[in-house]
Amino acid sequence: AKNKGKQTYQVFNTEMKSDSLQRLTLENDLRRALSHNELMLYYQPQMDIETGDIVGFEALIRWLHPVRGLVPPNEFIPYAEESGLIVPIGEWVMQEACRQNKQWQDEGFLFVPVSVNLSTRQFLQHNLRDQVSEVLQRTGLAASYLELEITESSTMDVDFAIGVLLELKALGVKISIDDFGTGYSSLSYLKRFPIDKLKIDQSFVRDIMTDPNDAAIVASIISMTRHMNLRVIAEGVETEDQLVFLRNNHCNEIQGYWFSPPVSTFKVEELMLRIKQV
Ligand code: C2E
Ligand code: CA
Ligand code: CA
Ligand code: CA
Repeated sequence: AKNKGKQTYQVFNTEMKSDSLQRLTLENDLRRALSHNELMLYYQPQMDIETGDIVGFEALIRWLHPVRGLVPPNEFIPYAEESGLIVPIGEWVMQEACRQNKQWQDEGFLFVPVSVNLSTRQFLQHNLRDQVSEVLQRTGLAASYLELEITESSTMDVDFAIGVLLELKALGVKISIDDFGTGYSSLSYLKRFPIDKLKIDQSFVRDIMTDPNDAAIVASIISMTRHMNLRVIAEGVETEDQLVFLRNNHCNEIQGYWFSPPVSTFKVEELMLRIKQV
């Protein structure tokens, strides 16, 4: 790899003729981001639909790029996955999310789980269980306050996935299936997975008020999860109408702009204080 001086940053996107060069630059930039603490976590609260309480936070990565500013994950996670950098990045995310959650607990803020996204590549790591266990030990966070979000694509090899999930569950962490409904999903396997929660993908939630098919899909997923004794959260809830629909259909939790977008730790603390005082 080309070794740039510590202070020079290449701006990708502009004047880059070839895709592969751009990818290489991005990869180098991302490597530097990891070692120079340019990555940060935003947190999006999850609300109990009945009580209005905050019942969790999802940690969502951001890259504070020295030239480009705040870069959203969709612009670099795919490259991180391709290059394998997602593994050290994912470890950093888990460590930081657990550290922060423990700090919030120590400071007397909320005791609620933090959700961390696990890419398939991380899920397939042979020592995932040990990694998770070490992070919990290092940070002192109780296992029940960590939730791991996996996608259906991590569960292609059903027996392997069940094995990993059982190991993780034995540690005491919670598991949810992210973007539910968008991937490969076989309902007959779903019931064999030792999971706690389904997250209904925002693409179904978006049009529940206007598209009867989406409304039916969302209502069925909720009813199915209730029968399976799983919790269910709807993602991408942006309007009061959607909230009311979901409440009438007995969805447990919501996450989305209606309640709060993902925000910095500073804003999360403000939000928690405000809710405490109500
Ligand atoms: P995701 O896991 O499905 O996360 C939810 C995404 O929906 C977030 O985008 C969030 O900002 C956005 N969102 C939340 N509420 C609403 C809403 O009401 N309306 C709309 N339109 N969008 C909403 P974000 O933060 O840009 O993250 C995008 C994706 O990047 C995530 O999708 C996840 O797949 C990936 N990602 C984020 N952080 C990490 C990470 O630490 N590790 C891994 N492997 N992937 C991550
Ligand atoms: Ca997620
Ligand atoms: Ca999702
Ligand atoms: Ca997604």
